[in-house]
Amino acid sequence: MTLRQKLSGIPLYMQILIGMIAGIIIGLIALQIDGGVTFVRHWLQPWGQIFIRLLQLIAIPLVFISLIKGMTGLKDISKFSRIGGKTIGIYICTTVVAILLGLAMGMLVQPGKLVNHEQVAHLQEHYHTVAEEKKLAAEQTREQGPLAFLTDIVPNNIVKAASDNGKMLQIIFFAVFFGLATLALPARKVQPVIALFDSLNGIILKMVDYIILFAPWGVAALMAGLITDFQGDTSIFNALAVYALTVVISLFILLLFFYPVLIHFFTRISPRKFIRAMYPVQLFAFTTSSSAATLPVTLKTVENKLGISEEVSSFVLPVGVTINMDGTSCYQTIAILFIAQVLGIDLSFSQLCIIVAMTVLSSIGTPGIPGGSYVILAMVLTSVGIPAEGLALILGIDRPLDMLRTAVNVTGDAAVCAMIDSAPQPSAE
Ligand code: ASP
Repeated sequence: MTLRQKLSGIPLYMQILIGMIAGIIIGLIALQIDGGVTFVRHWLQPWGQIFIRLLQLIAIPLVFISLIKGMTGLKDISKFSRIGGKTIGIYICTTVVAILLGLAMGMLVQPGKLVNHEQVAHLQEHYHTVAEEKKLAAEQTREQGPLAFLTDIVPNNIVKAASDNGKMLQIIFFAVFFGLATLALPARKVQPVIALFDSLNGIILKMVDYIILFAPWGVAALMAGLITDFQGDTSIFNALAVYALTVVISLFILLLFFYPVLIHFFTRISPRKFIRAMYPVQLFAFTTSSSAATLPVTLKTVENKLGISEEVSSFVLPVGVTINMDGTSCYQTIAILFIAQVLGIDLSFSQLCIIVAMTVLSSIGTPGIPGGSYVILAMVLTSVGIPAEGLALILGIDRPLDMLRTAVNVTGDAAVCAMIDSAPQPSAE
């Protein structure tokens, strides 16, 4: 049996965990032997960088294509004009709440600050250029005035915007604009474009699949590099444990407090009934780590157990799977703050605003598959000037968090579905 065949029998998340452990061991060994650090730097770290570059490479096409596909997909649904606006509005509101919760928790707990001060100074030195560039950019923004952030979102040249991973908001702006214009035109005129984006979306998702398959190797290489950068310091593991705990607590706040409150105030369903009905769906999402794969179960449950009309669920839930990722958005915010804290990067208020805006918009482009948010995370990190290599810190322990945030994602979709169903429906005319 070849190594590849042996590995293919192990679930990917286990492979990533094994990759992380292997990377740590290699890094620790490298610190002990002469020339070990140089070996890691020259022969291993490049593989990690290739992994990160692949994630960054696919980010713009993924977000661009899936955003347009998501928006134009709404065209087929006649109900869009009646409940579409309300559905999307509520989805965006719940996502913003999830992000603000993540922001509050990340800033309150500050898990990344648990890393040894000396290490942070060392890493700061290592990422010196990035820190300097950021400082410069912050100064420029200050000089340009408070609305510079808005001006920056509107591209003056789409090709130029697409050539810079840091300009993702401009790409999102163009995609939304394009999607709106497509929706406004008669279906027969835009049908070929919709079909094209549909098929492009399939291809891009396949590419994401391939990149994620490379994750165990990428994580091993990045982790070995980080361990040598950290010079074997283990305070990072305490920080990592607190980070994971912060994510878990925040996700439970959404599950056990936020959604029940929404259900209580905005639906005819009792929160207890909702929680009970959702339990099997959450379990399914938890085990598969894919909100897209859970969709049939979510649909059946909200219709059969919560009595939601098929007319509403068949529109609200598929849209939710595409654009609404509360758990993912909350986790991403904490992850970004954590990585910035570990690398000793202080985020300015305007950068925090960019993080919120990008996370809201890019959650629309996050595929509902295991690890679907890695690409988006790499992209948001790049956009605010945090080295995407920091991803290696969190990917190794990501699977359990992915399982939990997927459970939150599907619960959020169902909660909004119940809200739409309970709201007075405008007439079909
Ligand atoms: N696994 C998540 C989902 O399917 C996406 C992610 O956060 O990676 O909803």
